[in-house]
Amino acid sequence: MSDRNVALVSGGSRGIGRAAALRLAEDGYAISFCYHSDTESAARLGKELSEIGVDWLPEQLDVCEPDAVRAWVSRTEEELGPIRVAVASAGVTRDKPLLMMSDQDWSQVMDTNLDGVAHVLRAVLFPMVKRKSGSIITLSSVSGVYGNPGQGNYSASKAGIIALTRTLGKEVGKFGIRANTVAPGMIETDMTTAALGEAARRRAVDAIPLGRFGTAEEVAEAVSFLASDKSAYMTGSVLQIDGGIVL
Ligand code: NAD
Repeated sequence: MSDRNVALVSGGSRGIGRAAALRLAEDGYAISFCYHSDTESAARLGKELSEIGVDWLPEQLDVCEPDAVRAWVSRTEEELGPIRVAVASAGVTRDKPLLMMSDQDWSQVMDTNLDGVAHVLRAVLFPMVKRKSGSIITLSSVSGVYGNPGQGNYSASKAGIIALTRTLGKEVGKFGIRANTVAPGMIETDMTTAALGEAARRRAVDAIPLGRFGTAEEVAEAVSFLASDKSAYMTGSVLQIDGGIVL
């Protein structure tokens, strides 16, 4: 069990996290994933992972709770083996212009997207440093690089993820650990479907030079690349997958 490849994915039940879990399973990783509340999606993912033929472990938790995240990481190492790849994908949006944003909308996004990622990274780092190996992949966004009106909370959390990941890259490179960020543009998932009406969606597509939203599977390809030795000389990178929306 101990030399098996294990990948841990937060927010694995849906969207980009789900696609990353399936893609890493295709790469041969056993998968430990967490999710917040959607047990049906989690069960569906488990079934698909079994069909691929890898071991998997689901955990329902809130990434805002550091003790729960630490317990999940320990359980993963005990039941599946050493975590070689960690993907921090769990995230939420609560969009409003800053002027109208409630304290709760601000805190919930910062707690989930920034504190939640920090909890995952701190929990996996200790065993990775001991073993002197690991690849960490965080999910930022083009909003975190360029800002986006109506997404002050989200953009700030995603900019924080970039700073956190780059800092980590500097801190733990000497322990053989790499930390990189993927910054997607508009990707077809529940997150964008819930946030956009039809008119906003058309405007967004018009602003994308490649003329469409990306797919979660296209983002998962980048995750697979950053997890693998093909990216052995990359750390602290921000890989934008955005159809050119920022050009
Ligand atoms: P999604 O809404 O489809 O899925 C979110 C996942 O996060 C779910 O599995 C959910 O259970 C989990 N989650 C949410 N809050 C949680 C919590 N408190 N504790 C544990 N799990 C929690 O979202 P998505 O579109 O797949 O987005 C995944 C990541 O990619 C997010 O960090 C998001 O900000 C980022 N991103 C998405 C897009 C996009 O266009 N969809 C663009 C840029 C960045």
